[in-house]
Amino acid sequence: MKSFKPQKLRYCKCCQEPFKTTRTDKFFVDAAHQKRYNNAVQNKKRDKHLSLTKGHIKTYRILQGVLKNQPKITMSKDFLEGKGADLTLFTGSDFIDGMKTVILFDLALIPHDTSVTIKQL
Ligand SMILES: [Zn+2]
Repeated sequence: MKSFKPQKLRYCKCCQEPFKTTRTDKFFVDAAHQKRYNNAVQNKKRDKHLSLTKGHIKTYRILQGVLKNQPKITMSKDFLEGKGADLTLFTGSDFIDGMKTVILFDLALIPHDTSVTIKQL
């Protein structure tokens, strides 16, 4: 007897990208997505002073979702906030291109007047 499992639509744990799977234990589009997510989790653990909220994770996923593997992208703040991102949240800061820059996990957030550049670190 052949069993046919229907494919279910899932959303990637790292970026909310939709994908189809028959497996109940698959949470990422592919291994690269899983690695990216694991790296983000490791980065998060590295900073013991960090207190994370669901807002950080949600905002990170939204930003990764619009970034879609590009090295960087500039988006309107209104658009990102409309998607539910909280651009006041960050996990650290660093000097990038000579400027003190806010970081959310492995993304740098470079603000402009009405937009923000999201850069993959
Ligand atoms: Zn993903």
